Amino acid sequence: MSEIQETLSIQSEALITKENKYGAHNYHPLPVVLNKGEGVYVWDVDGKKYYDFLSAYSAVNQGHCHPKIIDAMLKQAQTLTLTSRAFYNDQLGIYEEFVTKYFGFDKVLPMNTGAEAVETAIKLCRKWAYEVKGIAEHAAEIIVCENNFHGRTTTIISFSNDEGARKNFGPYTAGFIKIEYDNLEALEKALKASKNIAGFLVEPIQGEAGVYVPSDGYLAKAKELCAAHNVLFIADEVQTGIARTGKLLAVHHENVQPDILILGKAISGGVYPISAVLANDSIMNVIKPGQHGSTFGGNPVAAAVAIAALEVVKDENLAENAERLGIILRKGLNDIAAKNSLITLVRGKGLLNAIVIDCNEDSDLAWDICLKFRDNGLLAKPTHGNKIRLAPPLVITEAQIHECLEIIEKSLEAFRS
Ligand code: PMP
Repeated sequence: MSEIQETLSIQSEALITKENKYGAHNYHPLPVVLNKGEGVYVWDVDGKKYYDFLSAYSAVNQGHCHPKIIDAMLKQAQTLTLTSRAFYNDQLGIYEEFVTKYFGFDKVLPMNTGAEAVETAIKLCRKWAYEVKGIAEHAAEIIVCENNFHGRTTTIISFSNDEGARKNFGPYTAGFIKIEYDNLEALEKALKASKNIAGFLVEPIQGEAGVYVPSDGYLAKAKELCAAHNVLFIADEVQTGIARTGKLLAVHHENVQPDILILGKAISGGVYPISAVLANDSIMNVIKPGQHGSTFGGNPVAAAVAIAALEVVKDENLAENAERLGIILRKGLNDIAAKNSLITLVRGKGLLNAIVIDCNEDSDLAWDICLKFRDNGLLAKPTHGNKIRLAPPLVITEAQIHECLEIIEKSLEAFRS
């Protein structure tokens, strides 16, 4: 893949070389080295300013370095950072009450990363299946969707169908049934086929796969089918949650309350690794002391940060902003697509959007377009080769959206043959 090296400063190149030499090569970052962020903007080491159109994969919904969230973190970091759960701390209970009321569940189980929260949800679902539903030991199965992305642990990649994520990481964890996404018949068939189904784990929009938005009614009907079969509906809202799609949760577009809700990323506004699993007592109470945990999960800094980050979402009406500006962004992108056949499709909800580029998944074209975006002051990254996700922080303004559309249009012009 081309790096358009000549645009990089000596300082940037030196820092990239260090990462390449001393860091594992488990990522292929766009060649830009950042050292500052504020709101919708990030700056590189040479002082060039960019619009951030990735938002750290939807973690920075509240904007970079939001002062209220940073203040909460600094204050707590100077007071008490970590006790482990061997003792109580004066922040956790306050956060637990806040977050459960905020999302409408009885209880929360705090973790750190998205993948850990997904693992937690899987364990919780299995335990519920054995102890409440009455499935025979080791027989529980969880239905998942093709092209899912739920994280990188050995269990989670066991039910991925992305070869890059899976290959040579086996042996794989058993107990998962894969069905087509956005296919209610497939779900119903799988639910009817076995008495051992414990849960249905689903992303309300498949983000990593390229922002696949399911048909209207899919989530509501899927929840209904799960309820009819006494199967837990588990929503992975790590990427779609916390106002990103124009509602607090993406399932709220269809008035669905999941049985188990998985959150991560923006629950901290991108300042700290925080994740959470929420459920009601009838499910969460199967977990007893010693059966699950994490040294850092629920630490005082995380508790203080998450409260501040969630308050910002409501105080600044970020869901409403995402809903309104998402419509304007997609309209603008569709207008560009009408003039430039390089964009074959625009899709998304709220401010979680993608454009599909007219090339195959192995082509470098989308990558080269992202380099051009970078040169013109906007950072985005291809996903699955030919899709470019466009997901700015939710604090973006309408004027800024229009400016970004101009950057996108101008950048794409350069690729007209
Ligand atoms: N679930 C979903 C839907 C995600 O998009 C991601 C990350 N992209 C994860 C889980 C994993 O989160 P983390 O990288 O924090 O482990």
